[in-house]
Amino acid sequence: MQITVAETKQRKSKPDDSNLGFGTIFTDHMFNMDYAPEKGWHNPRIEPYSPIIMDPATMVLHYGQGVFEGLKAYKTASGNIQLFRPEDNIKRLNRSARRLCIPEVDEAFLLDALKQLIGVEKDWVPGAPETSLYIRPTIIATDPFLGVRASHTYRLFIILSPVGAYYPEGFNPVKIWVTKDYVRAVRGGVGEAKTLGNYAASLLAGDEAHKEGYTQVLWLDGVEKKYLEEVGSMNIFFVIDGELITPSLNGSILPGITRNSVIQLAKLWDMKISERLISIDELVQAHAGGKLDEIFGSGTAAVISPVGEIKSGDQIFTVGGGEVGPMAKKFYSAITDIQYGRAEDPMGWVEPVA
Ligand SMILES: *Cc1c(COP(=O)(O)O)cnc(C)c1O
Repeated sequence: MQITVAETKQRKSKPDDSNLGFGTIFTDHMFNMDYAPEKGWHNPRIEPYSPIIMDPATMVLHYGQGVFEGLKAYKTASGNIQLFRPEDNIKRLNRSARRLCIPEVDEAFLLDALKQLIGVEKDWVPGAPETSLYIRPTIIATDPFLGVRASHTYRLFIILSPVGAYYPEGFNPVKIWVTKDYVRAVRGGVGEAKTLGNYAASLLAGDEAHKEGYTQVLWLDGVEKKYLEEVGSMNIFFVIDGELITPSLNGSILPGITRNSVIQLAKLWDMKISERLISIDELVQAHAGGKLDEIFGSGTAAVISPVGEIKSGDQIFTVGGGEVGPMAKKFYSAITDIQYGRAEDPMGWVEPVA
């Protein structure tokens, strides 16, 4: 399939690299591709960034049949642009698509399309420290129809947004709040897929956390409300008595690529790493026994996000003296050094673009 390219005649002015924020600025072009049963995925095109005009009956607006991804392009010191594990994002996009009855995409083709789009937009990849070009591939159901069934037609699009550091306070510990009133996902549900609706479902708990002065929600499992699962939009790691622990992928946890990168690096460094069940009680006891060394989240947007305080019920506990711990620092540096080309890439994670 040939990708057609129609470049805009009116390029926007580029923002100041030192003040980008997250997800508010979009580049000049986007990638679009359509699906119809008789044609499969067709008409791949790079064209000016523009609104999508939709019939109000469009299925995604009513039943949320849509999936997305999030990854980044990084500029190296020598001015090259590279992606971090993009094949894994594309594979996950297809896994999420399968879960929502959305037709899969040819993975090699989509990677090529993504590279071409970034090639057209390479001047948009910011160069200031800790900045990057955030990439948002999305697939939505486009049949104009109010019956409940899988759509027959779809649109896949990719938009790009230059972003600064995810946490405006910088690499500082966040405060997280444990909720027993709400759950994010249950086994057999859609929690392990990156679907549009998962985030809608998490907003109310997030609001309550904010009201209490906490940045993110620490989610417990949806059945027993006992086991730790994820934090906000990140996976979570604990360091207890020298052991690095992350909840095992049990069917309701999103399999993060940053999570997997932390696990692979821990193994490479011969660290003690366990993927297992970990309960809130174990955490409380570890804290009481002085053995809870660190907690941190992992995800593309923040890479590693150290946790300094947890509130669960009436208990508030400080983690690592409220400071950024050595493990969080080590993983943050190792992963970002690979992403920005400052270090060797022992796992072959980096994919050059332009
Ligand atoms: C995307 C996402 C993550 C992190 O995945 P990465 O591939 O590391 O960015 C974690 N949890 C949820 C709920 C997510 O949507």
